[in-house]
Amino acid sequence: MKTLEGIPASYGYAIGPAFMYERAELVIDCHTVDDTEKELCRLAEAVEVSRKQLEHVYQKALEEHGEENAEIFKAQTMMLDDPELMGAVKRQVEAEKTNVESALSDTVENYAGMLEALEDEYLSARALDIRDVGSRMLRVLLGVAESPTEGLKAPSIIFAKDLTPSDTILLDKTFVLGFCTSKGGATSHTAILARSLGLPAVVGAGKKVRKIKNGTSVILDGDSGKVIVKPDEATLAEYLIRQEQFIKVKSKAAKVAHEPAITTDGHQVEVVANIGSVDGVQSALDSGAEGVGLLRSEFLYLERNSLPSEEEQYKSYKTIADAFGKMPVVLRTLDVGGDKDIPYIDMPEEFNPFLGVRAIRLCLTRPQLFKPQLRAALRAGYGNNLKLMFPMVATVDEVVRTRALLDECMAELRAEGADVAESMEIGIMIEIPAAAVMADQFAEVVDFFSIGTNDLSQYTLAADRTNASVAAIAAGFQPAVFRLIKQVIDAAHAKGKWVGLCGEMAGELLAIPILLGLGLDEFSMNPPAIPYAKLLIRSISLEKSRQVAAKALNQTSSDAIRALVQEQVPEVNLG
Ligand code: PEP
Ligand code: MG
Repeated sequence: MKTLEGIPASYGYAIGPAFMYERAELVIDCHTVDDTEKELCRLAEAVEVSRKQLEHVYQKALEEHGEENAEIFKAQTMMLDDPELMGAVKRQVEAEKTNVESALSDTVENYAGMLEALEDEYLSARALDIRDVGSRMLRVLLGVAESPTEGLKAPSIIFAKDLTPSDTILLDKTFVLGFCTSKGGATSHTAILARSLGLPAVVGAGKKVRKIKNGTSVILDGDSGKVIVKPDEATLAEYLIRQEQFIKVKSKAAKVAHEPAITTDGHQVEVVANIGSVDGVQSALDSGAEGVGLLRSEFLYLERNSLPSEEEQYKSYKTIADAFGKMPVVLRTLDVGGDKDIPYIDMPEEFNPFLGVRAIRLCLTRPQLFKPQLRAALRAGYGNNLKLMFPMVATVDEVVRTRALLDECMAELRAEGADVAESMEIGIMIEIPAAAVMADQFAEVVDFFSIGTNDLSQYTLAADRTNASVAAIAAGFQPAVFRLIKQVIDAAHAKGKWVGLCGEMAGELLAIPILLGLGLDEFSMNPPAIPYAKLLIRSISLEKSRQVAAKALNQTSSDAIRALVQEQVPEVNLG
Protein backbone atom coordinates (compact mmCIF):
# COMPACT_ATOMS: atom_id res chain seq x y z
CA MET A 1 0.00 0.00 0.00
CA LYS A 2 1.29 3.46 -0.87
CA THR A 3 -0.26 6.90 -0.26
CA LEU A 4 0.26 9.87 -2.57
CA GLU A 5 -0.78 13.39 -1.62
CA GLY A 6 -2.55 15.83 -3.94
CA ILE A 7 -4.98 18.75 -3.72
CA PRO A 8 -8.60 17.85 -2.88
CA ALA A 9 -10.71 19.16 -5.76
CA SER A 10 -14.12 17.54 -5.41
CA TYR A 11 -15.58 15.78 -2.34
CA GLY A 12 -16.21 12.05 -2.16
CA TYR A 13 -14.38 8.73 -2.41
CA ALA A 14 -13.78 6.49 -5.42
CA ILE A 15 -12.63 2.89 -5.15
CA GLY A 16 -11.70 0.91 -8.26
CA PRO A 17 -9.12 0.19 -10.94
CA ALA A 18 -6.88 2.92 -12.33
CA PHE A 19 -7.20 3.90 -15.97
CA MET A 20 -4.14 5.71 -17.26
CA TYR A 21 -5.40 8.23 -19.74
CA GLU A 22 -2.78 8.91 -22.39
CA ARG A 23 -3.11 10.73 -25.63
CA ALA A 24 -1.23 9.28 -28.55
CA GLU A 25 2.03 11.21 -28.79
CA LEU A 26 1.84 13.48 -31.84
CA VAL A 27 5.09 13.14 -33.72
CA ILE A 28 5.87 16.38 -35.51
CA ASP A 29 8.29 16.15 -38.35
CA CYS A 30 9.95 19.50 -38.98
CA HIS A 31 10.99 20.15 -42.60
CA THR A 32 11.22 22.94 -45.13
CA VAL A 33 8.66 23.32 -47.91
CA ASP A 34 8.84 24.82 -51.40
CA ASP A 35 5.19 25.69 -51.72
CA THR A 36 4.27 27.89 -48.73
CA GLU A 37 0.90 28.73 -50.33
CA LYS A 38 -0.06 25.06 -50.14
CA GLU A 39 0.95 24.94 -46.46
CA LEU A 40 -1.22 27.97 -45.71
CA CYS A 41 -4.16 26.26 -47.46
CA ARG A 42 -3.61 23.21 -45.25
CA LEU A 43 -3.67 25.53 -42.22
CA ALA A 44 -6.96 27.07 -43.35
CA GLU A 45 -8.46 23.60 -43.89
CA ALA A 46 -7.31 22.44 -40.44
CA VAL A 47 -8.95 25.52 -38.91
CA GLU A 48 -12.26 24.69 -40.64
CA VAL A 49 -12.27 20.99 -39.67
CA SER A 50 -11.34 21.90 -36.09
CA ARG A 51 -14.16 24.44 -36.03
CA LYS A 52 -16.68 21.73 -37.01
CA GLN A 53 -15.32 19.35 -34.38
CA LEU A 54 -15.51 22.02 -31.71
CA GLU A 55 -19.11 22.79 -32.64
CA HIS A 56 -19.92 19.13 -32.01
CA VAL A 57 -18.05 19.10 -28.68
CA TYR A 58 -19.80 22.34 -27.69
CA GLN A 59 -23.23 20.82 -28.39
CA LYS A 60 -22.36 17.69 -26.40
CA ALA A 61 -21.07 19.79 -23.49
CA LEU A 62 -24.18 21.98 -23.61
CA GLU A 63 -26.52 18.99 -23.43
CA GLU A 64 -24.59 17.13 -20.75
CA HIS A 65 -23.12 19.90 -18.59
CA GLY A 66 -25.03 23.10 -19.32
CA GLU A 67 -24.13 26.47 -20.77
CA GLU A 68 -21.48 27.40 -18.22
CA ASN A 69 -19.31 24.35 -18.84
CA ALA A 70 -19.85 24.50 -22.60
CA GLU A 71 -18.63 28.10 -22.85
CA ILE A 72 -15.03 26.98 -22.88
CA PHE A 73 -15.46 25.48 -26.35
CA LYS A 74 -16.76 28.76 -27.66
CA ALA A 75 -13.62 30.37 -26.27
CA GLN A 76 -11.55 27.69 -28.01
CA THR A 77 -13.33 28.35 -31.28
CA MET A 78 -12.39 32.00 -30.90
CA MET A 79 -8.75 30.96 -30.59
CA LEU A 80 -9.04 29.49 -34.09
CA ASP A 81 -9.80 33.01 -35.28
CA ASP A 82 -7.23 34.76 -33.10
CA PRO A 83 -5.23 36.91 -35.53
CA GLU A 84 -2.21 37.02 -33.23
CA LEU A 85 -1.97 33.27 -32.75
CA MET A 86 -2.73 32.26 -36.33
CA GLY A 87 -0.73 35.21 -37.69
CA ALA A 88 2.34 33.92 -35.85
CA VAL A 89 1.91 30.47 -37.45
CA LYS A 90 1.55 32.00 -40.93
CA ARG A 91 4.58 34.24 -40.43
CA GLN A 92 6.73 31.28 -39.44
CA VAL A 93 5.61 29.27 -42.47
CA GLU A 94 6.33 32.22 -44.79
CA ALA A 95 9.55 33.42 -43.21
CA GLU A 96 11.19 30.08 -42.47
CA LYS A 97 9.46 27.99 -45.17
CA THR A 98 8.66 25.32 -42.57
CA ASN A 99 5.78 22.88 -42.76
CA VAL A 100 2.60 24.04 -41.02
CA GLU A 101 2.67 21.28 -38.34
CA SER A 102 6.01 22.47 -37.09
CA ALA A 103 5.05 26.17 -37.18
CA LEU A 104 1.81 25.46 -35.36
CA SER A 105 3.43 23.32 -32.71
CA ASP A 106 6.16 25.95 -32.04
CA THR A 107 3.69 28.82 -31.85
CA VAL A 108 1.29 27.02 -29.53
CA GLU A 109 4.17 26.02 -27.23
CA ASN A 110 5.47 29.61 -27.15
CA TYR A 111 2.12 31.08 -26.21
CA ALA A 112 1.26 28.37 -23.69
CA GLY A 113 4.74 28.59 -22.15
CA MET A 114 4.40 32.35 -21.75
CA LEU A 115 1.06 32.00 -19.98
CA GLU A 116 2.38 29.27 -17.69
CA ALA A 117 5.41 31.33 -16.73
CA LEU A 118 3.05 33.82 -15.11
CA GLU A 119 2.31 31.18 -12.45
CA ASP A 120 -1.30 32.20 -12.30
CA GLU A 121 -3.84 29.43 -11.94
CA TYR A 122 -6.34 31.13 -14.22
CA LEU A 123 -3.82 31.82 -16.97
CA SER A 124 -2.33 28.32 -16.69
CA ALA A 125 -5.78 26.99 -17.45
CA ARG A 126 -5.81 29.18 -20.59
CA ALA A 127 -2.44 27.65 -21.55
CA LEU A 128 -4.16 24.28 -21.45
CA ASP A 129 -6.88 25.60 -23.76
CA ILE A 130 -4.34 26.85 -26.30
CA ARG A 131 -2.60 23.47 -26.22
CA ASP A 132 -5.95 21.73 -26.56
CA VAL A 133 -6.79 23.73 -29.68
CA GLY A 134 -3.27 23.25 -31.05
CA SER A 135 -3.38 19.47 -30.54
CA ARG A 136 -6.78 19.31 -32.18
CA MET A 137 -5.45 21.07 -35.28
CA LEU A 138 -2.34 18.90 -35.31
CA ARG A 139 -4.45 15.73 -35.11
CA VAL A 140 -6.46 17.02 -38.06
CA LEU A 141 -3.28 17.78 -40.03
CA LEU A 142 -1.71 14.42 -39.17
CA GLY A 143 -4.91 12.38 -39.59
CA VAL A 144 -4.93 11.10 -35.97
CA ALA A 145 -8.32 10.09 -34.48
CA GLU A 146 -10.01 12.55 -32.13
CA SER A 147 -10.96 10.40 -29.15
CA PRO A 148 -8.45 8.65 -26.88
CA THR A 149 -11.15 6.94 -24.82
CA GLU A 150 -11.00 3.53 -26.43
CA GLY A 151 -9.81 1.06 -23.86
CA LEU A 152 -12.03 2.41 -21.11
CA LYS A 153 -14.44 -0.50 -20.84
CA ALA A 154 -15.16 -0.77 -17.10
CA PRO A 155 -15.87 1.75 -14.31
CA SER A 156 -12.46 3.20 -13.46
CA ILE A 157 -10.63 6.06 -11.79
CA ILE A 158 -9.09 8.23 -14.48
CA PHE A 159 -5.44 9.24 -14.02
CA ALA A 160 -3.88 11.77 -16.36
CA LYS A 161 -1.13 14.34 -16.49
CA ASP A 162 -3.79 16.94 -17.12
CA LEU A 163 -7.15 16.56 -18.79
CA THR A 164 -8.01 19.05 -21.47
CA PRO A 165 -11.56 20.36 -21.66
CA SER A 166 -12.18 18.30 -24.82
CA ASP A 167 -10.81 15.15 -23.19
CA THR A 168 -13.19 15.50 -20.31
CA ILE A 169 -16.22 16.09 -22.51
CA LEU A 170 -15.44 13.16 -24.80
CA LEU A 171 -14.89 10.69 -21.95
CA ASP A 172 -17.67 8.16 -21.53
CA LYS A 173 -18.90 9.23 -18.07
CA THR A 174 -20.70 5.95 -17.38
CA PHE A 175 -17.24 4.46 -16.81
CA VAL A 176 -15.76 7.25 -14.68
CA LEU A 177 -15.62 6.83 -10.89
CA GLY A 178 -13.33 9.79 -10.22
CA PHE A 179 -10.44 11.84 -11.57
CA CYS A 180 -6.83 12.33 -10.56
CA THR A 181 -4.35 14.57 -12.38
CA SER A 182 -0.68 15.06 -11.68
CA LYS A 183 -0.86 18.75 -12.63
CA GLY A 184 -3.48 21.42 -12.09
CA GLY A 185 -5.08 23.27 -9.21
CA ALA A 186 -8.47 23.39 -7.54
CA THR A 187 -9.85 25.61 -10.31
CA SER A 188 -8.57 23.50 -13.22
CA HIS A 189 -11.08 22.23 -15.78
CA THR A 190 -10.83 18.73 -14.35
CA ALA A 191 -11.75 20.01 -10.90
CA ILE A 192 -14.65 22.10 -12.20
CA LEU A 193 -16.00 19.27 -14.31
CA ALA A 194 -15.66 16.73 -11.48
CA ARG A 195 -17.66 19.03 -9.21
CA SER A 196 -20.33 19.55 -11.83
CA LEU A 197 -20.62 15.78 -12.22
CA GLY A 198 -20.51 15.24 -8.45
CA LEU A 199 -17.50 12.92 -8.81
CA PRO A 200 -14.54 12.84 -6.43
CA ALA A 201 -11.32 14.36 -7.72
CA VAL A 202 -7.74 14.98 -6.67
CA VAL A 203 -5.51 17.31 -8.69
CA GLY A 204 -1.87 18.35 -8.57
CA ALA A 205 -0.85 14.92 -7.24
CA GLY A 206 2.62 15.10 -8.80
CA LYS A 207 4.58 12.95 -11.20
CA LYS A 208 4.39 9.82 -9.03
CA VAL A 209 0.83 9.11 -10.10
CA ARG A 210 2.11 8.61 -13.64
CA LYS A 211 3.84 5.45 -12.45
CA ILE A 212 0.59 3.74 -11.46
CA LYS A 213 -0.14 0.85 -13.82
CA ASN A 214 -3.42 0.41 -15.66
CA GLY A 215 -5.83 -1.74 -13.65
CA THR A 216 -4.08 -1.23 -10.28
CA SER A 217 -6.54 -1.05 -7.41
CA VAL A 218 -6.73 2.49 -5.94
CA ILE A 219 -8.74 4.62 -3.53
CA LEU A 220 -9.24 8.27 -4.36
CA ASP A 221 -10.05 10.47 -1.37
CA GLY A 222 -11.49 13.74 -2.67
CA ASP A 223 -11.87 15.17 0.84
CA SER A 224 -8.24 14.98 1.91
CA GLY A 225 -6.56 14.79 -1.52
CA LYS A 226 -5.05 11.35 -0.88
CA VAL A 227 -4.53 8.63 -3.48
CA ILE A 228 -4.05 5.21 -1.89
CA VAL A 229 -2.44 2.72 -4.27
CA LYS A 230 -3.01 -1.03 -3.67
CA PRO A 231 -4.88 -0.48 -0.38
CA ASP A 232 -4.72 -3.22 2.26
CA GLU A 233 -7.90 -4.96 3.40
CA ALA A 234 -8.43 -2.81 6.49
CA THR A 235 -8.10 0.45 4.53
CA LEU A 236 -10.40 -0.83 1.84
CA ALA A 237 -13.01 -1.82 4.42
CA GLU A 238 -12.69 1.59 6.12
CA TYR A 239 -13.22 3.42 2.83
CA LEU A 240 -16.18 1.29 1.82
CA ILE A 241 -17.90 2.44 5.02
CA ARG A 242 -16.83 6.06 4.42
CA GLN A 243 -18.15 5.89 0.87
CA GLU A 244 -21.53 4.69 2.07
CA GLN A 245 -21.60 7.40 4.72
CA PHE A 246 -20.62 10.07 2.17
CA ILE A 247 -23.49 9.17 -0.14
CA LYS A 248 -25.87 9.85 2.74
CA VAL A 249 -24.14 13.15 3.62
CA LYS A 250 -24.22 14.25 -0.01
CA SER A 251 -27.95 13.76 -0.33
CA LYS A 252 -28.53 15.48 3.03
CA ALA A 253 -26.39 18.43 1.87
CA ALA A 254 -28.36 18.72 -1.36
CA LYS A 255 -31.59 18.86 0.66
CA VAL A 256 -30.44 21.80 2.82
CA ALA A 257 -28.64 23.77 0.09
CA HIS A 258 -31.46 26.30 -0.18
CA GLU A 259 -32.19 26.50 3.54
CA PRO A 260 -30.73 29.21 5.79
CA ALA A 261 -27.47 28.51 7.63
CA ILE A 262 -28.71 28.49 11.24
CA THR A 263 -26.93 26.67 14.06
CA THR A 264 -28.83 24.31 16.34
CA ASP A 265 -28.98 27.10 18.94
CA GLY A 266 -30.45 29.62 16.52
CA HIS A 267 -27.47 31.69 15.30
CA GLN A 268 -27.72 32.58 11.61
CA VAL A 269 -24.83 33.40 9.28
CA GLU A 270 -24.74 34.17 5.56
CA VAL A 271 -23.35 31.62 3.10
CA VAL A 272 -22.46 33.23 -0.20
CA ALA A 273 -20.40 32.45 -3.29
CA ASN A 274 -17.07 33.46 -4.76
CA ILE A 275 -17.50 33.96 -8.49
CA GLY A 276 -15.19 35.11 -11.25
CA SER A 277 -17.49 35.77 -14.19
CA VAL A 278 -21.05 36.27 -15.38
CA ASP A 279 -21.10 32.51 -16.07
CA GLY A 280 -20.63 31.74 -12.38
CA VAL A 281 -24.02 33.21 -11.46
CA GLN A 282 -26.15 30.18 -12.28
CA SER A 283 -24.03 27.62 -10.47
CA ALA A 284 -23.90 29.91 -7.44
CA LEU A 285 -27.70 30.20 -7.38
CA ASP A 286 -28.16 26.47 -7.99
CA SER A 287 -25.80 25.66 -5.12
CA GLY A 288 -27.87 27.68 -2.67
CA ALA A 289 -25.74 30.86 -2.48
CA GLU A 290 -27.42 33.70 -0.61
CA GLY A 291 -25.51 36.24 -2.66
CA VAL A 292 -21.92 36.83 -3.76
CA GLY A 293 -19.25 37.55 -1.17
CA LEU A 294 -16.48 38.00 -3.72
CA LEU A 295 -16.88 38.89 -7.37
CA ARG A 296 -13.33 38.89 -8.72
CA SER A 297 -13.48 41.59 -11.40
CA GLU A 298 -10.22 40.47 -13.07
CA PHE A 299 -12.24 38.31 -15.49
CA LEU A 300 -13.13 41.41 -17.48
CA TYR A 301 -9.51 42.42 -17.89
CA LEU A 302 -7.91 39.10 -18.82
CA GLU A 303 -7.68 37.47 -22.25
CA ARG A 304 -7.90 40.66 -24.24
CA ASN A 305 -5.67 43.34 -25.66
CA SER A 306 -7.12 46.52 -24.20
CA LEU A 307 -8.96 47.80 -21.14
CA PRO A 308 -12.69 47.03 -20.89
CA SER A 309 -14.75 50.19 -21.31
CA GLU A 310 -16.89 51.64 -18.54
CA GLU A 311 -19.97 50.55 -20.49
CA GLU A 312 -18.83 46.96 -20.82
CA GLN A 313 -18.01 46.79 -17.12
CA TYR A 314 -21.32 48.38 -16.21
CA LYS A 315 -23.26 45.78 -18.22
CA SER A 316 -21.42 42.81 -16.68
CA TYR A 317 -21.68 44.06 -13.09
CA LYS A 318 -25.33 44.96 -13.56
CA THR A 319 -26.20 41.56 -15.05
CA ILE A 320 -24.65 39.84 -12.08
CA ALA A 321 -26.04 42.15 -9.38
CA ASP A 322 -29.54 42.08 -10.90
CA ALA A 323 -29.47 38.26 -11.10
CA PHE A 324 -29.25 38.20 -7.29
CA GLY A 325 -32.06 40.74 -6.79
CA LYS A 326 -32.11 41.83 -3.16
CA MET A 327 -29.29 39.47 -2.23
CA PRO A 328 -25.88 41.11 -1.70
CA VAL A 329 -23.18 41.03 -4.38
CA VAL A 330 -19.73 42.23 -3.31
CA LEU A 331 -17.76 43.53 -6.27
CA ARG A 332 -14.02 43.60 -5.68
CA THR A 333 -12.12 46.19 -7.68
CA LEU A 334 -9.24 45.18 -9.88
CA ASP A 335 -6.59 43.06 -8.16
CA VAL A 336 -3.65 42.74 -10.55
CA GLY A 337 0.05 42.66 -9.93
CA GLY A 338 1.46 39.94 -7.70
CA ASP A 339 0.96 36.76 -9.72
CA LYS A 340 -1.59 38.35 -12.07
CA ASP A 341 -0.15 40.33 -14.91
CA ILE A 342 -2.13 42.04 -17.66
CA PRO A 343 0.10 42.54 -20.68
CA TYR A 344 -1.62 45.69 -21.99
CA ILE A 345 -1.32 47.52 -18.64
CA ASP A 346 2.17 48.85 -18.49
CA MET A 347 3.42 47.63 -15.13
CA PRO A 348 7.05 48.02 -14.12
CA GLU A 349 9.10 44.85 -13.73
CA GLU A 350 9.38 44.18 -10.02
CA PHE A 351 11.83 42.02 -8.12
CA ASN A 352 9.17 41.02 -5.62
CA PRO A 353 5.74 41.62 -7.18
CA PHE A 354 3.74 40.24 -4.25
CA LEU A 355 5.21 43.09 -2.21
CA GLY A 356 4.97 45.60 -5.03
CA VAL A 357 2.48 47.79 -6.84
CA ARG A 358 -0.46 45.40 -6.64
CA ALA A 359 -4.26 45.89 -6.54
CA ILE A 360 -5.36 49.13 -4.82
CA ARG A 361 -1.80 50.46 -4.95
CA LEU A 362 -1.81 50.20 -8.74
CA CYS A 363 -5.36 51.57 -9.08
CA LEU A 364 -4.66 54.60 -6.90
CA THR A 365 -1.72 55.61 -9.03
CA ARG A 366 -3.78 55.29 -12.23
CA PRO A 367 -7.10 57.10 -12.00
CA GLN A 368 -7.61 56.64 -15.75
CA LEU A 369 -7.70 52.89 -15.06
CA PHE A 370 -9.59 53.04 -11.77
CA LYS A 371 -12.26 55.65 -12.38
CA PRO A 372 -14.10 53.80 -15.19
CA GLN A 373 -14.42 50.81 -12.86
CA LEU A 374 -15.70 52.91 -9.98
CA ARG A 375 -18.15 54.72 -12.26
CA ALA A 376 -19.35 51.40 -13.71
CA ALA A 377 -19.90 50.01 -10.21
CA LEU A 378 -21.83 53.06 -9.00
CA ARG A 379 -24.09 52.88 -12.05
CA ALA A 380 -24.50 49.08 -11.86
CA GLY A 381 -25.55 49.33 -8.21
CA TYR A 382 -28.74 51.18 -9.08
CA GLY A 383 -31.80 49.15 -7.99
CA ASN A 384 -29.98 46.16 -6.46
CA ASN A 385 -27.73 45.26 -3.54
CA LEU A 386 -24.26 45.75 -5.03
CA LYS A 387 -21.45 46.51 -2.58
CA LEU A 388 -17.94 47.62 -3.41
CA MET A 389 -14.74 46.23 -1.91
CA PHE A 390 -11.07 47.18 -2.26
CA PRO A 391 -8.27 44.61 -2.24
CA MET A 392 -4.81 44.72 -0.61
CA VAL A 393 -5.44 47.70 1.61
CA ALA A 394 -2.54 48.31 4.00
CA THR A 395 -3.11 51.83 5.36
CA VAL A 396 -6.09 53.96 6.36
CA ASP A 397 -4.84 56.64 4.00
CA GLU A 398 -5.48 54.33 1.03
CA VAL A 399 -9.15 54.09 2.04
CA VAL A 400 -9.40 57.85 2.43
CA ARG A 401 -7.92 58.42 -1.04
CA THR A 402 -10.12 55.75 -2.60
CA ARG A 403 -13.23 57.23 -1.04
CA ALA A 404 -12.28 60.66 -2.37
CA LEU A 405 -11.99 59.21 -5.88
CA LEU A 406 -15.33 57.48 -5.45
CA ASP A 407 -16.96 60.74 -4.33
CA GLU A 408 -15.49 62.42 -7.40
CA CYS A 409 -17.03 59.73 -9.66
CA MET A 410 -20.37 60.05 -7.89
CA ALA A 411 -20.41 63.83 -8.38
CA GLU A 412 -19.56 63.44 -12.07
CA LEU A 413 -22.30 60.86 -12.60
CA ARG A 414 -24.89 62.95 -10.79
CA ALA A 415 -23.94 65.96 -12.92
CA GLU A 416 -24.38 63.78 -16.02
CA GLY A 417 -27.83 62.76 -14.78
CA ALA A 418 -26.97 59.06 -14.64
CA ASP A 419 -28.86 56.56 -12.48
CA VAL A 420 -26.56 55.63 -9.61
CA ALA A 421 -26.76 53.51 -6.44
CA GLU A 422 -28.58 55.48 -3.74
CA SER A 423 -26.26 54.23 -1.06
CA MET A 424 -23.61 51.61 -1.52
CA GLU A 425 -21.80 49.75 1.26
CA ILE A 426 -18.04 50.13 0.97
CA GLY A 427 -15.68 47.51 2.36
CA ILE A 428 -12.09 46.37 2.26
CA MET A 429 -10.36 43.06 2.13
CA ILE A 430 -8.26 42.30 5.15
CA GLU A 431 -5.38 40.39 3.64
CA ILE A 432 -2.31 42.26 4.87
CA PRO A 433 -1.36 41.78 8.53
CA ALA A 434 -1.08 45.57 8.98
CA ALA A 435 -4.78 45.90 8.12
CA ALA A 436 -5.70 43.16 10.58
CA VAL A 437 -3.71 44.81 13.35
CA MET A 438 -5.28 48.21 12.62
CA ALA A 439 -8.79 46.80 12.11
CA ASP A 440 -10.24 49.08 14.81
CA GLN A 441 -9.18 52.16 12.85
CA PHE A 442 -10.35 50.73 9.51
CA ALA A 443 -13.73 49.94 11.06
CA GLU A 444 -14.22 53.70 11.44
CA VAL A 445 -13.92 54.36 7.71
CA VAL A 446 -15.64 51.37 6.03
CA ASP A 447 -18.94 49.48 6.29
CA PHE A 448 -17.58 45.93 6.28
CA PHE A 449 -14.51 43.71 6.07
CA SER A 450 -13.89 40.54 4.09
CA ILE A 451 -10.89 38.56 5.25
CA GLY A 452 -8.77 37.21 2.40
CA THR A 453 -7.02 34.33 4.08
CA ASN A 454 -5.21 33.25 0.90
CA ASP A 455 -3.12 36.39 1.06
CA LEU A 456 -3.37 37.04 4.79
CA SER A 457 -1.74 33.64 5.36
CA GLN A 458 1.06 34.18 2.87
CA TYR A 459 1.91 37.59 4.29
CA THR A 460 1.57 36.51 7.93
CA LEU A 461 3.69 33.38 7.51
CA ALA A 462 6.03 34.94 4.92
CA ALA A 463 5.28 31.94 2.68
CA ASP A 464 4.63 32.54 -1.04
CA ARG A 465 1.22 31.08 -1.94
CA THR A 466 2.47 30.07 -5.41
CA ASN A 467 5.54 28.22 -4.13
CA ALA A 468 4.79 24.49 -3.72
CA SER A 469 7.71 24.04 -1.31
CA VAL A 470 6.07 26.27 1.30
CA ALA A 471 2.45 25.45 0.41
CA ALA A 472 1.76 23.78 3.75
CA ILE A 473 2.93 26.85 5.67
CA ALA A 474 0.96 29.19 3.41
CA ALA A 475 -2.22 27.08 3.62
CA GLY A 476 -3.52 29.28 6.42
CA PHE A 477 -4.63 26.78 9.01
CA GLN A 478 -2.28 28.36 11.52
CA PRO A 479 -2.91 29.60 15.04
CA ALA A 480 -1.33 32.94 14.05
CA VAL A 481 -3.88 33.43 11.26
CA PHE A 482 -6.82 32.47 13.48
CA ARG A 483 -5.63 34.94 16.13
CA LEU A 484 -5.56 37.73 13.54
CA ILE A 485 -9.04 36.74 12.34
CA LYS A 486 -10.33 37.00 15.92
CA GLN A 487 -8.77 40.44 16.29
CA VAL A 488 -10.42 41.63 13.06
CA ILE A 489 -13.88 40.29 13.95
CA ASP A 490 -13.77 41.73 17.48
CA ALA A 491 -12.63 45.15 16.23
CA ALA A 492 -15.37 45.29 13.58
CA HIS A 493 -18.14 44.13 15.91
CA ALA A 494 -17.12 46.70 18.51
CA LYS A 495 -17.96 49.35 15.88
CA GLY A 496 -21.11 47.60 14.67
CA LYS A 497 -19.60 46.47 11.34
CA TRP A 498 -19.99 43.02 9.77
CA VAL A 499 -17.18 40.67 8.73
CA GLY A 500 -17.00 38.09 5.94
CA LEU A 501 -14.24 35.74 4.86
CA CYS A 502 -13.66 34.95 1.20
CA GLY A 503 -10.37 33.02 1.18
CA GLU A 504 -10.45 29.28 0.46
CA MET A 505 -10.69 28.69 4.20
CA ALA A 506 -14.35 29.76 4.33
CA GLY A 507 -15.38 26.57 2.52
CA GLU A 508 -13.11 24.22 4.46
CA LEU A 509 -15.25 22.11 6.74
CA LEU A 510 -12.52 21.91 9.39
CA ALA A 511 -12.29 25.70 9.57
CA ILE A 512 -16.02 26.45 9.69
CA PRO A 513 -16.64 25.63 13.39
CA ILE A 514 -13.69 27.83 14.41
CA LEU A 515 -14.78 30.75 12.21
CA LEU A 516 -18.34 30.40 13.46
CA GLY A 517 -17.10 30.40 17.05
CA LEU A 518 -14.99 33.51 16.41
CA GLY A 519 -18.16 35.32 15.32
CA LEU A 520 -17.75 35.47 11.51
CA ASP A 521 -20.93 36.85 9.90
CA GLU A 522 -20.50 35.83 6.28
CA PHE A 523 -18.82 32.79 4.68
CA SER A 524 -17.96 33.18 0.99
CA MET A 525 -16.80 30.11 -0.92
CA ASN A 526 -16.69 28.11 -4.16
CA PRO A 527 -20.31 27.32 -5.02
CA PRO A 528 -19.96 23.49 -4.83
CA ALA A 529 -18.89 23.78 -1.17
CA ILE A 530 -22.06 25.65 -0.17
CA PRO A 531 -24.44 22.71 0.48
CA TYR A 532 -21.84 20.98 2.69
CA ALA A 533 -21.09 24.19 4.61
CA LYS A 534 -24.79 24.74 5.25
CA LEU A 535 -25.31 21.15 6.36
CA LEU A 536 -22.44 21.49 8.84
CA ILE A 537 -23.55 24.85 10.23
CA ARG A 538 -27.10 23.56 10.65
CA SER A 539 -25.89 20.55 12.63
CA ILE A 540 -23.63 22.26 15.20
CA SER A 541 -24.19 24.85 17.92
CA LEU A 542 -22.65 28.29 18.30
CA GLU A 543 -21.93 27.42 21.92
CA LYS A 544 -19.82 24.39 20.96
CA SER A 545 -18.14 26.34 18.13
CA ARG A 546 -17.09 29.04 20.58
CA GLN A 547 -15.48 26.45 22.83
CA VAL A 548 -13.62 24.88 19.90
CA ALA A 549 -12.48 28.30 18.63
CA ALA A 550 -11.12 29.27 22.05
CA LYS A 551 -9.11 26.05 22.20
CA ALA A 552 -7.92 26.39 18.59
CA LEU A 553 -6.32 29.76 19.33
CA ASN A 554 -4.15 28.12 21.96
CA GLN A 555 -2.83 25.26 19.80
CA THR A 556 0.76 25.38 18.67
CA SER A 557 0.37 24.05 15.11
CA SER A 558 -2.01 23.62 12.21
CA ASP A 559 -2.02 19.84 12.70
CA ALA A 560 -3.04 20.26 16.32
CA ILE A 561 -5.94 22.52 15.26
CA ARG A 562 -7.12 20.02 12.64
CA ALA A 563 -6.98 17.16 15.16
CA LEU A 564 -8.86 19.25 17.71
CA VAL A 565 -11.72 20.07 15.31
CA GLN A 566 -11.91 16.51 14.04
CA GLU A 567 -12.19 15.19 17.58
CA GLN A 568 -14.56 17.85 18.99
CA VAL A 569 -16.82 18.26 15.95
CA PRO A 570 -17.33 14.83 14.31
CA GLU A 571 -19.85 16.44 11.92
CA VAL A 572 -16.92 17.81 9.86
CA ASN A 573 -16.17 14.30 8.61
CA LEU A 574 -17.94 13.52 5.36
CA GLY A 575 -17.31 9.80 5.51
C1 PEP B 1 -7.58 36.06 -0.69
O1 PEP B 1 -6.46 36.58 -0.78
O2 PEP B 1 -7.92 35.31 0.25
C2 PEP B 1 -8.59 36.29 -1.75
C3 PEP B 1 -9.82 35.83 -1.64
O3 PEP B 1 -8.18 36.98 -2.85
P1 PEP B 1 -7.37 36.33 -4.08
O4 PEP B 1 -7.31 34.85 -3.82
O5 PEP B 1 -8.12 36.71 -5.30
O6 PEP B 1 -6.05 37.00 -3.93
MG1 MG C 1 -6.13 38.21 -2.15
